[in-house]
Amino acid sequence: MASVPKTMKAVVIEKNGGTEVLQYKTDVPVPEPKEGQVLVKNDYIGINFIDTYFRSGLYPAPSWPYILGREAEGTVVKAGGGETYGIKEGDKVVWMAEGAYAEYTAAPAAKTVKLPKEMESKIGAAALLQGLTALTLIREAHAVKKGDWVLVHAAAGGTGLWLCQLLRALGANTIGTASTKEKVDLATKAGATHMINYSQDDVKSKVMELTNNNGVAAVFDGVGKSTFDLSLECVARKGSMISFGNASGAVPPVTIARLSPKNARLMRPTLFGYIATREEFEHYVNELFEIIPKEKIDVRIHEVYPLSEAKRAQDDLEGRVSTGKLLLDPTA
Ligand code: NDP
Repeated sequence: MASVPKTMKAVVIEKNGGTEVLQYKTDVPVPEPKEGQVLVKNDYIGINFIDTYFRSGLYPAPSWPYILGREAEGTVVKAGGGETYGIKEGDKVVWMAEGAYAEYTAAPAAKTVKLPKEMESKIGAAALLQGLTALTLIREAHAVKKGDWVLVHAAAGGTGLWLCQLLRALGANTIGTASTKEKVDLATKAGATHMINYSQDDVKSKVMELTNNNGVAAVFDGVGKSTFDLSLECVARKGSMISFGNASGAVPPVTIARLSPKNARLMRPTLFGYIATREEFEHYVNELFEIIPKEKIDVRIHEVYPLSEAKRAQDDLEGRVSTGKLLLDPTA
């Protein structure tokens, strides 16, 4: 059996706030895997916007002190017994649950899968949560068809670049938005057929011009508060407004009568609701792992930050500096 230390490095919060509440500690107890869990020694940890919501208090932390982070890639060093879905000690895995900003995580085996042999560790860590989000959004939140016009906000972000590439594979007409020329170029390379630099151009008029005044069949809006009204204005008759995040803040309550003029649908999906069961999780992970080589998906990694620099990483994510995925390395 692999030797497991008693304590580990981890980033812990003891209260809500800005990035100053992120505490890098070197003496956090290594968790003991319970039945149905596997203890994973993490190689690369994925950073996601949701981590900032738990830090700020927008989403309540389930317990205190709390270790942020929802996904990582690593090696199983111990199994806690019970059903582990064929996952055993020594396996390289990716997992999605809680407590990722740490050297070790006791992850539920039901939300852990083996890393494909041909996949690099970093890619596994970078692909899982954002890749699955994009995949489930275009399959279930609004089933996008070839030729559909869709609008993707923050198209050069982690989830945005995934959406652009998966929508290209489907043959959709993707209009992306981004704040800088560098981001516009990246999203175009990823498959956005039309890009709007919203720092320079008016998004609604461009969308209407491109769609012959019809609007788009679906808006995928992870920006939230600052774009909600604009997004709804860009939706076509019988279209879908998919609000899936709060990067600019939470969307205030909406009066449903606002959907009537276009017979529009409004959804507020979360990935976790699409992969709640083992069957659903495996189904989408298998599909994602097949799509990556088949569609030559470029899983763009913005930067690998040392775990001790989680604050700088979250500052970059919230400061709109990043493009693609941010990772943490617990060994650095
Ligand atoms: P991104 O890499 O997309 O980073 C956020 C981007 O949003 C920024 O780079 C910026 O792009 C844009 N943005 C616009 N306004 C703001 C603002 N006020 N503050 C910060 N960013 C802003 O992050 P993720 O891919 O991790 O997440 C994107 C969104 O998707 C988040 O809202 C997240 O919560 C959501 N999400 C939801 C999931 C779900 O299950 N529902 C799962 C995964 C992600 P630009 O400069 O081009 O405007």
